[in-house]
Amino acid sequence: MFRRVVWSSVFLDPKRGFERVYLPVEARFDPLTGRVCVVSELRFSLPMKADFSELARVTEAFCPFCPEKVEAATPRFPEEFVPGGRIRVGEAVVVPNLMPYSQHSAVTVISRKHFLTLTDFTQDLLVNAFMASQEYLERVALYNVSQKHFLIVWNFMPPSGGSIIHPHLQPVSYDEPMGYYAKQLEASKKFYEEHGYSFWQHLVEEEKRLGERYIGATGSVQWLTAFAPRNYLFEVTAVFPERTSILELGRNNINDFAEGLIKILNYMNALNVSSFNLTLQSGSPDEKHYRVNASIIPRFTLPPLGTSDTASLRALNDLSVCYKKPETTCTELKQYF
Ligand SMILES: [Zn+2]
Repeated sequence: MFRRVVWSSVFLDPKRGFERVYLPVEARFDPLTGRVCVVSELRFSLPMKADFSELARVTEAFCPFCPEKVEAATPRFPEEFVPGGRIRVGEAVVVPNLMPYSQHSAVTVISRKHFLTLTDFTQDLLVNAFMASQEYLERVALYNVSQKHFLIVWNFMPPSGGSIIHPHLQPVSYDEPMGYYAKQLEASKKFYEEHGYSFWQHLVEEEKRLGERYIGATGSVQWLTAFAPRNYLFEVTAVFPERTSILELGRNNINDFAEGLIKILNYMNALNVSSFNLTLQSGSPDEKHYRVNASIIPRFTLPPLGTSDTASLRALNDLSVCYKKPETTCTELKQYF
């Protein structure tokens, strides 16, 4: 299930009088899709701690998501779709996405406060924001029955691609699966047909048995470090072993997810990370081979040049590179669970 190829890269090292040095490098294949990550444990400087407080101060005056402006500055849904034009749960507000990713694409403003750091998110804020996003997707499914494939993505802060400082999720719906998620669904279906059980349940069981990348559980949600991460530092995977669609998640499931997510945010903060990407995705309710799952990767720039964490291999060849073994990250993350 966990295929890897180990190489040894040889060179004559100028720092050791041109002595012959062998550097271990391995290619790891994602157990579901076969996507490749090159892993080598190298000395890796921590990211530069980014401080977005000045950027937050400057952008607050023009922010459409701040509570005093959200009514006038954000679009509304048509009345026949969402009576009242917007969905509200606690502090969370769902509005149409002005830059849509599909026919049904929204933004969920998470908090009334304009600027939150990684460690400012409370369980309540996160639960309400994911509940509000789920309610939007439920309405999409009722309004347009062809819509079955749901994602909730989060770009937190500029290094992740986030263009507005005010924290927000982006729920999006497709009538057919798109992108890498489509590959996962297809491979998951194939695995089910070949083995007669779900890849996702098997993954959790195998990782528990091996104990190398299994972080722990928060109630109904299982947390792992990905075998073939899509980031220099790490990728965390969360699996809801009993749920196929985001629409099936109960408040308790979302609460469990938020509890684990806060632990991951605290860990990232300790690594000087201030930005991340998240995707929470699900199959249509009849796709019994799939399970609701989430991926989280840190995003950062590297000292001393402010170097991007995405280079050619990742950007153009979809070939990831990781400088920290997922097993090392798992050991560190366990202390937060
Ligand atoms: Zn704001």
